[in-house]
Amino acid sequence: MKKIKIGLVGASGRMGQEIAGVIEKSSSCELFYPLNRKDKLDAKKAAKVDVWIDFSSPEAFEGVLQMAVKNKTPVVCGTTGFTAKEKALLPKFGKQIPLLWSSNMSLGVAVLNEALKNFAAISHFDYQIEEIHHNRKKDKPSGTAITLQENLEKAVGRKLPEPLAIRGGGVFGVHKIFAMSDEEVITFEHSALNRTVFAKGAVQAAEWLVKQKPGQYQIRDVLFGSKK
Ligand code: NAD
Repeated sequence: MKKIKIGLVGASGRMGQEIAGVIEKSSSCELFYPLNRKDKLDAKKAAKVDVWIDFSSPEAFEGVLQMAVKNKTPVVCGTTGFTAKEKALLPKFGKQIPLLWSSNMSLGVAVLNEALKNFAAISHFDYQIEEIHHNRKKDKPSGTAITLQENLEKAVGRKLPEPLAIRGGGVFGVHKIFAMSDEEVITFEHSALNRTVFAKGAVQAAEWLVKQKPGQYQIRDVLFGSKK
């Protein structure tokens, strides 16, 4: 079987190394082009990449998309801390290539985001999201907390208090959603036990994305199917 050739942007970062480890163990894909911040782009090699995985920085995103679009190569991106500028790139480039961005590549958080729809039935409760991450994390609140907040606000039909963010130690990522009334409290909690969970999700997403038409996708589409 021909292996899927993966290009990896941010290959020497924490997530990049984790993703390289998952690819190494895979029988269906290979790490064809690891790309780091100071590398000069080899356009011939880039043209042979089947799918890019980008876990680098918001500043890198537009360049990655421009490089991918030249060869119509799909892109999976897990970078967080996007401003309106980077967010606007998603629909623009999603018209030209298969483009999957998710603030959290874990399948568990994809299921958690779906589960939030149930809160529509108790939209009058008080809500609060809380997240904890390691002390090297650059963005605050986390991209995952922002996505959970957007989905929760959609479910309950109103603006909610901002997510609370705690930074400390080596925590890979904990997200809690509290739904509270005078009589009861519901707590949804997701804990990432390692970084591999995000790396596995990203590689699974890349293997799925190479078979898709141009469009804007999320990790939930890999699990639940795309509406396109
Ligand atoms: P990191 O700082 O360890 O690694 C980032 C890497 O990207 C570094 O090696 C850096 O040199 C490189 N880089 C930065 N700008 C670049 C550029 N212009 N071109 C090429 N390489 C560039 O960070 P990390 O912990 O690996 O996280 C990376 C990103 O992934 C962050 O935004 C983080 O929040 C996000 N993240 C997402 C998920 C998810 O599931 N979606 C999970 C964990 C982390």
